Amino acid sequence: MHFPDHGDDVDILVQRASIALRIAQQSSKGYATYESSFDKNTPLRLTLISELRHAIERDGLELYYQPKVSIKSGEIIGVEALLRWIHPAHGVIPPDEFVPIAERNRMINPLTHWVLRRAFRDCANWHKQGFPVKVSVNLSAKDLHDPELPDLISGVAVSSNIKPSWIILEITESSVMSEPENALGIIKRLHGMGYQFSIDDFGTGYSSLAYLKKLPLSEIKIDKGFVMDILNSENDAAIVKATINLGHNLGLTVTAEGVESKEIMTRLMDFSCDVAQGYFLSKPVTFKELNQWISDSRWKIADHNSSLTAFAGLLN
Ligand code: C2E
Ligand code: CA
Ligand code: CA
Repeated sequence: MHFPDHGDDVDILVQRASIALRIAQQSSKGYATYESSFDKNTPLRLTLISELRHAIERDGLELYYQPKVSIKSGEIIGVEALLRWIHPAHGVIPPDEFVPIAERNRMINPLTHWVLRRAFRDCANWHKQGFPVKVSVNLSAKDLHDPELPDLISGVAVSSNIKPSWIILEITESSVMSEPENALGIIKRLHGMGYQFSIDDFGTGYSSLAYLKKLPLSEIKIDKGFVMDILNSENDAAIVKATINLGHNLGLTVTAEGVESKEIMTRLMDFSCDVAQGYFLSKPVTFKELNQWISDSRWKIADHNSSLTAFAGLLN
């Protein structure tokens, strides 16, 4: 890399150095000097990167919330915060498309900080209104490598007046396994402060059960890939059932994501699954929409057993 020929901004230099690194890894020489021809999409990609940075700094992001419903009581017991980028030209951009850009370009720290501030603020607001909901926040693998994460989270908690026990931090098996010792240290510190942990996309990673046992978990979320096919695939049904039993034997709450129909919901009930999340119950909604339900008391389904359809009717 040559400064300032290859960029006069540290983020652009790091981005281009990583492109040169990828080229070096593919070449027989074992090294490479950055050239603009390495990166055909440079202008577009760099525009997106700087637009994302702008969105994080200027509130161009939005948090949606998807209800998590207790299968036994029918109540909304929690919500998962799901990030959206409201782009002025491209409209709503889903997180799968821009979180990886943030991860690659050293923006995950301000991005996660924004999510925590917004989610904790909304959580405090709901508790004040008498809606005792737990808010789940997704953490990226990069967050679990940041030794300052526990201090960052506790700072946001203090300034937004929330209790750690109101928050569930969602991590994935692969995000823990990429640097297990560091991640475990950070997770244990946060757990000691009162935060709960959930393993997201359970069943899709390569983690060892021995390692999972070391994590201070409260919840397992079965990946929607298994749940959505539970009616058509005996294998998926067996995996879901076995995961529910495994979770219960480890003393964990088991949540199924991707619950798209009443039939899936009924099957999960038969399997004694604890919590359901999915389009059958509700798609992710804005803070305002969720507030409307709260003021209509629609989060509490009094006589759930009488009718399963109550879920769809009440929540959508
Ligand atoms: P995830 O954590 O597994 O989130 C669940 C995804 O499934 C969400 O997609 C949600 O909208 C979608 N979903 C919910 N119910 C159903 C259903 O019944 N059927 C189907 N087919 N899909 C359903 P979304 O919002 O696009 O988020 C995608 C991923 O982006 C998330 O997957 C999560 O890994 C990541 N993500 C979202 N918000 C954040 C965030 O604040 N920070 C970080 N680091 N990652 C985030
Ligand atoms: Ca999640
Ligand atoms: Ca998931």
